[in-house]
Amino acid sequence: MLIQYSSTEIKRYVKVKGVASPYNGDWIYWSSKMGVHPEVSTRVATLLKRQKGICAHCGNYFTDGNPIEVDHVIPTFIGGRNSYDNWQLLHRHCHDTADFR
Ligand SMILES: [Zn+2]
Repeated sequence: MLIQYSSTEIKRYVKVKGVASPYNGDWIYWSSKMGVHPEVSTRVATLLKRQKGICAHCGNYFTDGNPIEVDHVIPTFIGGRNSYDNWQLLHRHCHDTADFR
């Protein structure tokens, strides 16, 4: 007997209040959806999209008014590269308090 499990993928969506547009300040939503936003650098927008708007340290979403830091997974002073595969986004408070090494 073949048991079929649901192949439906559990998806997490960025919570959006009301109607979001690229210019109403809901930049987290748009940059994570579209990978680009006029007020967000290409690097941050690309990383936001890759991380689906979620902090690499605490697993919570970035929200408006919550400063974002670009962290080097491997610090540059020990040879980490300045490239996308070595960057991750963290909340500033996570960046400041996290013990990564
Ligand atoms: Zn965090």
